[in-house]
Amino acid sequence: MQPLKYLGGYPPQVQAQVRELIAQDRLGALLATKYRDPHAVRNDGQLYAYVQALKDRHMRKAAPLGKVIYDGKLQVLKHALGTHTTISRVQGGRLRASREIRIASVFRDAPAEFLKMIVVHELAHMKEAEHNKAFYQLCTHMEPDYHQLEFDLRLYLTQLELQARAGDLPAS
Ligand SMILES: [Zn+2]
Repeated sequence: MQPLKYLGGYPPQVQAQVRELIAQDRLGALLATKYRDPHAVRNDGQLYAYVQALKDRHMRKAAPLGKVIYDGKLQVLKHALGTHTTISRVQGGRLRASREIRIASVFRDAPAEFLKMIVVHELAHMKEAEHNKAFYQLCTHMEPDYHQLEFDLRLYLTQLELQARAGDLPAS
């Protein structure tokens, strides 16, 4: 039995339910029914504007955004669903931190809800480095459905891998 690598942190009974959906070949259809809306954030410029708009709405006082890009080399799981680096520069004797946000390019073609979820995740890291209680409070402040979306994103990534392994193209 293949391990469900995206769901490793979830209870055994939840994983068993997911295995059942996969065995019945229902996971893809279930996700496609629930998440119907694509998004129009196609390139890095549009991604920057999208992140900036969410930041303006919820985290106006955080440090200014640095670079914001889609990254085709980023592995979602390895980098804890995205990556976030602080680049410190000395400018005129003051240390200034700027934030770079890289979003795995799998999100370019993912449903709109999952892009929002991952951007919320990365923005929350501008204030909280760890995945702790304060971090998740920030996430749910920006997106009340955050926990459900993160779980469903893990299902979505699981489904993409199953399709890739089967040599199928994702259903359009
Ligand atoms: Zn994280």
